[in-house]
Amino acid sequence: MMPFYRTKVESGKESIVMGSETIEAMIRDYTEAIEKGTLCMPTGCSSCHEESDDYKLHECRKRQLRVVIEDIVKVIITFLLRWKCPLCQATFTDYPPFIKPHKRFVLSDMCRFSQSYLESDKVTYRDTVKHKSYDIGYIDPESGLCEQFLSHSTIYRFMAYLADICPSLPGNVFAISHSKYRTATRRFILVRALATIRNIAQKSIFPDFGTLAA
Ligand SMILES: [Zn+2]
Repeated sequence: MMPFYRTKVESGKESIVMGSETIEAMIRDYTEAIEKGTLCMPTGCSSCHEESDDYKLHECRKRQLRVVIEDIVKVIITFLLRWKCPLCQATFTDYPPFIKPHKRFVLSDMCRFSQSYLESDKVTYRDTVKHKSYDIGYIDPESGLCEQFLSHSTIYRFMAYLADICPSLPGNVFAISHSKYRTATRRFILVRALATIRNIAQKSIFPDFGTLAA
C-alpha cells in the first residue's frame, strides 16, 4: 500500500494527500490508514486556527461517498475523524481533501463534471451525465441493478457549490460561453465555479484531476 501522508502547502494551514494513483485508491489509502491508526493528526484546528501536536481523537464516524467510475456511481464507505483541540477545547472534523462537508460526491468528481460543461461551448448539462454515450447509473447494492441515473440537475447544483467555495472573487478573467447562462447572476456563478476548478487543478491534489490546470 502506498503510504498515506500529508504535507503542508505554502500557507502552512492546508493539508493535502499524496501518493495515490486514482481517487478510488486515495480514498482506500485514507480509509486503511484510519483503520490501522496510522493517519497523522490534523495540521491545524479549524476553530482557533492554531497548530498543536496534541489533538485528541474525539470520534470516528462512518461516511458514505459517491465516486463516478466510468458509467457507474459507486458508493464507498469511509470515515471522518473528529478531534479535540487542546488549545481552545473545540471539537472539529478533519476533512480529507476529497470530502466536503454535507456533500456526497467527491470533490474531484464535482470539479471534473463541471469542468466538462464549462470548458466546451457545445456540451450541455445532459451531455455531462453520459460516459461514452451511456447514461451514468447508480448500482443498487442489494439488487446489483442500475435503477437510477445521475441527473443533469446534479451537475447544475455542483456549479453553485463550487462557486460558493471560490477562494477569491475573480474579475472577468474566464470566458464563459453565452449559451451557458441567461442572467448575469448565473454567469457570475459559472465564473466563480471555474475559478474554483482551476485553483484545485493547480494544486494537483487529486491524481485524476490535478493535471488539468489551464
Ligand atoms: Zn483550537
